[in-house]
Amino acid sequence: MMEYKFTNSEEILRLCKKHNLPISEVAKRFEAERAHKSIASVRNQMKKVRDAMYDAVRKGVKTEEKSKMGMVGGDAKKIYAALKNVKNMMGNKVTLRAMAYATAVGEQNACMNRIVAFPTAGGAGVVPGVLFSASESFKAGKRKLLRGMFCASTIGLIIAENATLSAAKGGCQAEVGAAAGMAAAGLTEMRGGTPEQCFHAAAIALKSYIGLACDPLGGLVEVPCIKRNAIGCMNAIGASDMVMAGVKSFIPLDEVIEAMRDAAELMSPKLRETALGGLAMTKTGIMIKKKLGLKIK
Ligand code: SF4
Repeated sequence: MMEYKFTNSEEILRLCKKHNLPISEVAKRFEAERAHKSIASVRNQMKKVRDAMYDAVRKGVKTEEKSKMGMVGGDAKKIYAALKNVKNMMGNKVTLRAMAYATAVGEQNACMNRIVAFPTAGGAGVVPGVLFSASESFKAGKRKLLRGMFCASTIGLIIAENATLSAAKGGCQAEVGAAAGMAAAGLTEMRGGTPEQCFHAAAIALKSYIGLACDPLGGLVEVPCIKRNAIGCMNAIGASDMVMAGVKSFIPLDEVIEAMRDAAELMSPKLRETALGGLAMTKTGIMIKKKLGLKIK
């Protein structure tokens, strides 16, 4: 029997308390047990994931490459350049860098370059955006970054277990929403938050996305996906800030995830990755469909 097995946040908390461990350590031990690997090999695997994410970020903030349809490309570079002028911005270095990095990953994905689907390709920008940006502002940031990634991964796991990470089943709450919850928890652990605080942050972030449509223009993971990732970073950082200021989520994370599952069941198929509703059916969305030779309805 697995000692570190869990299916929801309550069970993770129990393990954290029983073994006096942070969420990231429970995640590592769970993966080691599940995959019959050593803790060191699980850590190394996560380092490879981190390095692949960094590659996408580094390339993405330098390039002006456009996607095939020309809808996206070059915005990460613009946001990254704004860091030089941070005094004229309302956000700070951490938030701007997070948005630049998230956009970089989204644009690399749209240009068919390599990214890490963490947890999915559509929502792949939020976790590296938030955690990489924060790690650059922390002492021992590299070590903390891995902790943040392990902690974030548990949120993805329990969402997959109790709701869904599929946009075709649950809309964008399952992609950008899930990623924001993951990033909020990971960031909170990196900042020294308790396991309870990590789950409060994830709950606050995820609550803002209940019922969010998946409505990409022409069915391509470009618009509104990439900007949603950038804004997802702001959501995650805001949720973590609220929690570190002493705020709690009134609804526990496990209940928020249940609500997400219910909302997914209630959602029209037109709002679940079919490009038949929401932004995909705006005048601009229809123009893109025509260019792609897709049926309008
Ligand atoms: S709109 Fe749809 S395709 Fe785009 S990020 Fe959200 S879930 Fe993914």
